[in-house]
Amino acid sequence: MFPEIQRVLYTRDQIAERVRTLADEMVIDLKADLAKDGHTELDEDRVIIIPIMTGAMIFVADVVRELPMKLSLGLVAVSSYPGESVRSKGAHFATELPTNLGGKHIIVLDDILDSGQTLALVKEMIAKQNPASLRLGVMLDKQTDRTVDVHVDYVGFEIPDEFVVGYGLDYNGYYRNYPQIAVLDQSAIPKR
Ligand code: 5GP
Ligand code: MG
Repeated sequence: MFPEIQRVLYTRDQIAERVRTLADEMVIDLKADLAKDGHTELDEDRVIIIPIMTGAMIFVADVVRELPMKLSLGLVAVSSYPGESVRSKGAHFATELPTNLGGKHIIVLDDILDSGQTLALVKEMIAKQNPASLRLGVMLDKQTDRTVDVHVDYVGFEIPDEFVVGYGLDYNGYYRNYPQIAVLDQSAIPKR
């Protein structure tokens, strides 16, 4: 069904286990932040999780169900890999950022950290709204030369500098529903 998968890096079970431990780290940090403000995890309107669409949707769906607290979601879409390209072409917003982030505890989640441009852009724009806290998380951290230096608080797995698909990550719009994290066969990527 997915003939262009070359090899699997992480299976469903490995992903599920890592998502749980990442979520545990987030809960510890968020509870500490809320306590500092004199709030608890049951108080409304304090925590906002921001998935960078579309790649983060599966990761975020799994993470938020492991966060036992009141939270809301605020979506943003950032585009950097249009169509068949496999190298970043510079990040730009494809949607408006939510405008209610001031004073809130924010965690921005993305599928993968590559050049760093996407998360650096989102972080910079959110910081302008003066959130109470702002943290970044990714499922995958690609071991490559960053063009932008950005600190990420939560990392699922570090991976080699290869183009991966599955678990939300696409190639040309496809493979997001592939349930494991895998390297795409080079033959599937058109030479240019
Ligand atoms: P950055 O802005 O850090 O270069 O790239 C982040 C974005 O590029 C991610 O949100 C993701 O959409 C895309 N990206 C980077 N590396 C890969 C990869 O190996 N596979 C896929 N499918 N997307 C990637
Ligand atoms: Mg993306």
